[in-house]
Amino acid sequence: MLKGLGRWLRAAGYDTIIADNGVADRELIEQARDEGRLLITRDRKLIEFRDARKHVILLMSNHLQDCVRELNKIKDIDWSYRPFSRCLLCNHPLREADPGQYSQIPEESRRIAEQKSERVYWCDHCNKPYWAGSHVRRMRKTLSGWQDCR
Ligand SMILES: [Zn+2]
Repeated sequence: MLKGLGRWLRAAGYDTIIADNGVADRELIEQARDEGRLLITRDRKLIEFRDARKHVILLMSNHLQDCVRELNKIKDIDWSYRPFSRCLLCNHPLREADPGQYSQIPEESRRIAEQKSERVYWCDHCNKPYWAGSHVRRMRKTLSGWQDCR
């Protein structure tokens, strides 16, 4: 339900697992407990489990921006924590790309990255490069705007 919010938390650098559809409620709670995670959900049923309140954050809002506001009130989220330090697709920590891997990003983007001395990052799990293109710049702007979104 909150996959979009999950991806934004990843973009901010938080270690975020996005639950697959159809995973049993009990399993989700157990995973949160065992891995010391907070389970962010809109599913009321999840707070009915014993001890759930320690591990579950229940949001009421339906839209991303409202969820962010609600989450900011409940938890001290730092949306500028470590932006773009994790893969948005798989959550794997990114590392700086090897020189050879630079060749895998579009020539134009590579040229701009070199001009601005911007680093290119790499997900070893997805074999995917990340660079500070216009999309990333827009996302960074959104993230910093959420810092004071209350
Ligand atoms: Zn990845």
